[in-house]
Amino acid sequence: MMNKRSLAAMALLISVSLLSACGKDKAPAGSPAPSASPSAAASQSPTAKPTPTAGSPSASSSVSPSAKPSATPGKNDGVQVIAKPESITVLVNKQNMLPDNYNPTDLVYPDIPFTFKEKLEKRKMRKEAAEAIEQLFAGAKKDDISLAGVSAYRSHATQTSLFNSYVKKDGLEKAKTYSAVPGTSEHETGLAIDVSGSDGKCAAQDCFGGTKEAKWLAEHAHEYGFIIRYPKGKDKITGYQYEPWHIRYVGTKMAKEIADKGSTLEEHLNAVPVSK
Ligand SMILES: [Zn+2]
Repeated sequence: MMNKRSLAAMALLISVSLLSACGKDKAPAGSPAPSASPSAAASQSPTAKPTPTAGSPSASSSVSPSAKPSATPGKNDGVQVIAKPESITVLVNKQNMLPDNYNPTDLVYPDIPFTFKEKLEKRKMRKEAAEAIEQLFAGAKKDDISLAGVSAYRSHATQTSLFNSYVKKDGLEKAKTYSAVPGTSEHETGLAIDVSGSDGKCAAQDCFGGTKEAKWLAEHAHEYGFIIRYPKGKDKITGYQYEPWHIRYVGTKMAKEIADKGSTLEEHLNAVPVSK
């Protein structure tokens, strides 16, 4: 028996599941907003302090192939905790998780337009990535391509709060199908950003794939040190379907190598494919 509410919930769930890698911080157009408003609970929880241990992250674009996951046993089935979360080339995916206490220490607000006006956490990026995204947007502009940021950094606290609200609503297994487990979202690194055209149409949706903005990104992102993190046809390796809007900073050298080969960060780092 299906009442209206469970139908609506189901519809929401289905539409939500399309957005997996980027998580969703807004409901897709046309669907009702999720009842549990995570943002309210998420913000202002200054509990997780950054550890002052490791010295300043060597954030130069020099190649440090160090970002390979450590052999530290993870908490969940085969998931490993990342040893050097501050590395520019860090691999974060469903099997390689950021440590609970990791918060990037060099987050800044890049000077680029977003699809919203407010000065929110999700505008932030790590300094080196922020400078690169400014260059990328400027380069696009020269080619008459107007871009806008949709969502960049998401703190561990925000991701945790968001995820927990889904678990409460749908249970752990179901929640995992449409929201990244805290620590496994690349948005927590401050090195990734979802990008759309300046009109915000198709933001973080499949229809972005056919746009001139997506085409420009696919051709030029690597020149600025970014890769299309979840390319078409690589979902078995990355664990995510094609997401033409989600770009990830890795530095220009590695970005070019990955783009030239048409490969992925997993392949480049010789990491195990996410789904065997
Ligand atoms: Zn994303």
